[in-house]
Amino acid sequence: MSLITASGLCKKYQSGDITVEAIKDATFTIEQGSFVAFVGPSGSGKSTLLNMVGCLDTPSCGNLKVLDTDVSTLSQKEAAIFRGKNIGFVFQDFNLIPVLSAYENIEYPLIMVQDWPAEKRHARVMELLEAVGMADQAQKQPGQLSGGQKQRVAVARALVTQSQLVLADEPTANLDSNTAHKVIDLMKEMREKFGTTFIFSTHDAKVMAEAEITFTLVDGEIVNKSKEGAHV
Ligand code: ADP
Ligand code: MG
Repeated sequence: MSLITASGLCKKYQSGDITVEAIKDATFTIEQGSFVAFVGPSGSGKSTLLNMVGCLDTPSCGNLKVLDTDVSTLSQKEAAIFRGKNIGFVFQDFNLIPVLSAYENIEYPLIMVQDWPAEKRHARVMELLEAVGMADQAQKQPGQLSGGQKQRVAVARALVTQSQLVLADEPTANLDSNTAHKVIDLMKEMREKFGTTFIFSTHDAKVMAEAEITFTLVDGEIVNKSKEGAHV
């Protein structure tokens, strides 16, 4: 089943007299359970595309369906509800809440978005802490964790509400290459375990090699789709 279908998708930004076409005529599908990378140099449109898929930004033209919902027509409020229900986010700079422990950071979406009873919440947070290998660091605050550990917590937080889709915009940009690979491996492992679809962006050729499907962007256009190294 296609989780995401885009056709003729575009995004235009107006700055003064100049119109920037950040995404041009993008047509693609992403299947459920896939492990996908949007790759391309800085300014090629990776974040713009991820933001539209994540309902953080609205397309200027074209169609975009995510999980059978036409997300291009959602109001801001509807988009927020849709995101809370279906999509987890992982950021380049982790975006953990500094005064909360790893445990509390992962628990946060369950309190804010989904009204789970305390016992069920505890079991779910522990399951995720175990899954990302951070159970022994549960009480530490982000400031006491390494970059790789922080990103593990962020991946757990993105998954805790049983999101079907996780979007990660340059999740390895602030990590050394060894840690970067471990974080991508972890995301892959989580895809296996929970069946979650992952889409991440990167401009790092070594990191992109770990994706099963890559969409290459140049100046806002998808110029290539490849599957495990092969062109399709
Ligand atoms: P990437 O994530 O690949 O670095 P972006 O999606 O951030 O690329 O940007 C693509 C293009 O759109 C760039 O030319 C950028 O300057 C422009 N752009 C992105 N966001 C905005 C905005 N809010 N207003 C104006 N231009 C923008
Ligand atoms: Mg970007």
